[in-house]
Amino acid sequence: MQHALEEIERMPGIGPKSAQRILNWLLTSDKEVAHRLADAIVDVKESIHLCPRCHAFAEEEFCAICSDPERDVSTICVVSESRDTDAIERTGTYQGLYHVLGGVINPMEGSMPEDLHISDLMARLGSEGTQEVLLATNPDVEGETTASYLSRVIKPLGIKVTRLASGLPVGGELEYADEVTLGRAIESRREL
Ligand SMILES: [Zn+2]
Repeated sequence: MQHALEEIERMPGIGPKSAQRILNWLLTSDKEVAHRLADAIVDVKESIHLCPRCHAFAEEEFCAICSDPERDVSTICVVSESRDTDAIERTGTYQGLYHVLGGVINPMEGSMPEDLHISDLMARLGSEGTQEVLLATNPDVEGETTASYLSRVIKPLGIKVTRLASGLPVGGELEYADEVTLGRAIESRREL
């Protein structure tokens, strides 16, 4: 049981209490449940790999977006994790390609630019005729640090660098917005 607990606890977001709860559930469920879970984990691990071009999750050699001839190759949207591409895809408003960094710059945790997929982003910019790079890292300290680093190294190539605007949630009310969010919304105001 200790071994199983340790393995479950390795999962992100799972602390000792949740691990115990998951283990209890497994031990009180049918054997079939455990086998299905184990099979699903092994299956997904064996069938999904990282796209060699953009580092998003892929089932075929290249991911579905890199393989789609309809996508606009002049724009690359840079995100921190593969799941961020799904969030952007769900909006249905972006037609370009992606590049997944595999993290953010975070010196406190020992994550430096050379630990991310930045050198192959630069190689893509040199060979794919990119005209715009949209930086879509999270609007937190590490995400901003990463975006400003990328902006610094990409702009000298003569490529347009843009950043996701951050602002007020749709349906929200001004008086309830925190000052950072409201401040950002003012900074990234647009002309009507
Ligand atoms: Zn790809």
